[in-house]
Order: sequence, then structure tokens, then C-alpha cells
Amino acid sequence: MPAPIDYAFVFDIDGVLRYGRGNPVEGASKTIEFLSENKIPYVFLTNGGGSERYKEEELREELSLSDSIVKKGHIVGSATALFEYAQFFKNEPILVVGGADSVENANSIGLSKAVFCEDVSKQIPDLIPRFTRSDVFCDHCKVEKISNPILLDENVQFKAVFVLADPLNWLTAIEPVTSILTTSGYCHASAVSKLMEDRKSFAASPATCFDPSNPECPFYIPPIFFANSDFTFAGKYPTPRLTMRSLRMCISSITEERMKETFTTFITNETQQVVKGFGSSIESTKSFSEWILRSKIESFASPLIIQTGKPHTENFHGALCRLRSLYPKATSSSPLCHVYMIGDNPHGDIRGANTMRELGEEMKRKRIEEGKEDEHCTVTPEWYSMLVRTGMMSRFSNPPALTSPVQEYLEKSDIPTYECRDVTDCVIYVLEHHGNTELAEKYKEFIGEK
Ligand SMILES: [Mg+2]
Repeated sequence: MPAPIDYAFVFDIDGVLRYGRGNPVEGASKTIEFLSENKIPYVFLTNGGGSERYKEEELREELSLSDSIVKKGHIVGSATALFEYAQFFKNEPILVVGGADSVENANSIGLSKAVFCEDVSKQIPDLIPRFTRSDVFCDHCKVEKISNPILLDENVQFKAVFVLADPLNWLTAIEPVTSILTTSGYCHASAVSKLMEDRKSFAASPATCFDPSNPECPFYIPPIFFANSDFTFAGKYPTPRLTMRSLRMCISSITEERMKETFTTFITNETQQVVKGFGSSIESTKSFSEWILRSKIESFASPLIIQTGKPHTENFHGALCRLRSLYPKATSSSPLCHVYMIGDNPHGDIRGANTMRELGEEMKRKRIEEGKEDEHCTVTPEWYSMLVRTGMMSRFSNPPALTSPVQEYLEKSDIPTYECRDVTDCVIYVLEHHGNTELAEKYKEFIGEK
């Protein structure tokens, strides 16, 4: 009697199944085909933005797999984790950063009034004066064609910014985003001019509440959400390539500089008078003055940044939900007790899976205290992190081999449960570890004896 399959795989894509677009890792395609044939659950968890549907098509093509092997819902993209946050802004104008395939994502997470940076530059060309439309920016034109933006008049105030993917042309994102964050979410020229007047009056006589998180306040700073926390990704090039966290670093530092520039007037002129003479009995006056003073001494006010993407647990919970919805039979007749995250990024894939494991252990302890230990698997499985050497960590040995463990280079939270040479070694390990020796032999034969 073969051992039951009470485990599942969660695969990172870049660096595990491929080395950048169109360059699959050896054995990756056969691995997915084998798991599908043998009804072993799997999903793909990526920090890549853009449409999941498009990514599924791309993966099928790259690995030459059919649509019964990579199905709708198999890829959990980074934007999915922003769904809960997006619910707060369902009916509000939201500025969105991302390419053409992010338009579908914005709709799917419920941003009904999404306006892409491309739409802003089309309606208000002065906002990105050095930008010229040309065929070079074909992605730009695609967004314009398929998005359905609202009319940006002087009443439109963006209540948040969602960065769903890093665009091909960073200027088209950095200029409008950093501008809008420093102008309380307004972008229409006359609305921004009025805002500047309001700020002057407010600074001279701040009798109303001062709260940069309140859209009514003339110093409102909209929150900004990022779907991906990776600084780089593994592509074909010998060293890693930039992705969303590097864009976030640019946006953060430029926003801070712009805030300094924008608010300097208030510090040097009217506000100094306000600061000298503020009445401590008026709490709002005090807080406004303190904020301005503090900003002179320390760093300036920063935008509220909310970050999802691996290693954040929202993404891993998303992968678990997909496993359960795609494999309802497998996960109900034999509870899903073990989930193996296979990734190449210690700070994303490994740290996230380790955190899920810790959360699960904590939940298990509580359930034991409540006398519900047996139900544990159905509530939360045990997560294991498996680090491969085919992506970001390939620099430790080339060709990939496990001659020097990488642990000594990593922070404690980023140390994997297992280190493997590549994705096929990971799968062999798991099959054998769970007593599915026959299946392991069959797999080795299927991928071409190792
Ligand atoms: Mg990766």
C-alpha cells in the first residue's frame, strides 16, 4: 500500500523553473507533468506582477505544457495579496503603476476606479513634460487602449497608489507617483494650485485638525502599496536584474526630497511664525508645528508604504487557498499536512515559508491546549523551505552543486529546511522522504535517470 500523498508543492518560477523568460531549467517541464499525472498538488507562487492568466499562458508555452497541466488559477501572482487592501478603495480613484497586463489585475482585485500612470500622462501631459509618445513605449500605448480611466478633473483626488508591477519605463511611474504623493492625491493643475493656497492658509492659522492620513487635510499623504518586495530577480544575465523593491527605493527617496522641496516654504515663512507662537491649548496646532519642526531636525515625513509580495504571509496564504480550491478532492480525502516551498530567494521564498511554519507551530500549540490536536492538518499544514542553486544562489557554485552550504551567509530567518541542487532533486527528496519510493523511482526514470 503506497504512502498517502498528504503533501503539496509551491514553486517559485524565476530561478527554479526558468532562468528568465524562454530559458527553462532542465527537468522543470517534466517535473510539473509528472506531478500532474500522479495527482500530486502544486501551484506556482511568484512575486511577478501582471495578469495571472497571461503568466499561465507564458509558463505553458515556455515549458511546453498543456492547459490541463497549468490551469487557470495555478499561478498566484503578487497582486493577489493586495486584494484585501483593495477592498478599502473599491469606489475611490486609485493611481495604478503596472504594464498592460496589470489592467486585468486591477479589475480582479476590485479597483473599479483605477487610473494608470499612462492615463494620467495622456490627460495631463504637463505632469511628465519630458515624456514623448513613440513606438518605443508600446506597452504604454497598450495600457491606454485597454484601460477605462475616469476623467481627471480638479475634483479627482487619488486616495492611494497601487504598484502592481514595475513598468518598462520608470520615469512614467516615478514622476506622477512622487508628485501625487506630495500633492495630497491631486493631479489636475488648478486643484494643485488651490491646494498650495490652502496649505499656506493652514500653516498660517492651523485651527482645524492636522492629520496627514486624512484626505481632508491639506497635508494628506496617500498610502502607497507595493505588490513585490524583491530587489532583484534571476534572469539570463550573470548577475541579478532590478525589480520592484529597487523602484520602491527610488520612489521613497524622491518623495522625501520632493516633500522637503514642497514644504520648505511652510518651514521658512509662515510656519516659523506659527511655531513661535503656537498655542499649546490647541492640540492640532501643536502637532502640526511639531511635525514641521521634527522634519527639519530628522528625516522628512515619508509616505505610508504597505508592502506585500514574498516573504509576506498574505502571498503564502494565497497559495494555500489556491491549493485547496484547485485540489478539493486531494485535500479533503487526505488532509494537506505538508507544503514544500521550492525557491531560489532566501529573503523571499525561504523566509516566507519559514514564517508560515512558525505560525503553524504556534497555532498547533494552541490547538493542543484546546484538545483539538487531531484537526491540526485540516487547519494548517507544516511548511518546509527548499532552496535551489539554479537561480540567485547559483553564484555559490557554478555549475550548481552542494559543495558549500549557504547557511553561513544567511540570516537565521532565511536558512532553508533543505538545500537542493535543483528542482528535480527537491522532488526526489520529498517523494522519498514521504515513503513514496516507487513513485520516486518512476519520477527519476521519467525525467531521465539522475
Ligand atoms: Mg525566484
